[in-house]
Amino acid sequence: MSKKTRIPPMLKRAVSHIFTKPVTTKYPFVKPTLPADFRGQQVFDINLCVSCGLCSRDCPAKAIEMVVIDGKRRPQFKLDSCIFCYQCAESCPRNAIKSSVFYELATTDKSSLVLKPQASVERRASPQ
Ligand code: SF4
Ligand code: SF4
Repeated sequence: MSKKTRIPPMLKRAVSHIFTKPVTTKYPFVKPTLPADFRGQQVFDINLCVSCGLCSRDCPAKAIEMVVIDGKRRPQFKLDSCIFCYQCAESCPRNAIKSSVFYELATTDKSSLVLKPQASVERRASPQ
């Protein structure tokens, strides 16, 4: 009677992984392709804003402070508190807050995470 050799399951699995595509990505060397509705940094259009403050009132993370610019109350975003839920955009009656695909927000300078409302919004470079 011949004796059957058994391959240990762990070895079987290890060998199968040699031929499997890795699940990890090469970020930051290769940037991911993001969907158009990705929730990155907010883009605020001051010309559409009517100073109602609904975005600030509804923000669950208290990440929006209303500040006075040229005599009008405008939202100022604190990205270090933001959870990117986009309730602010949902609540805005004028569609003045939109999402962007900019997500590389890591910094050693916390003050750069405060988005001051400006007359002309400069959009940061997109990763795509
Ligand atoms: S995305 Fe969410 S957490 Fe961030 S500012 Fe808007 S409502 Fe607040
Ligand atoms: S909800 Fe919209 S219109 Fe109202 S303050 Fe916020 S950004 Fe401006």
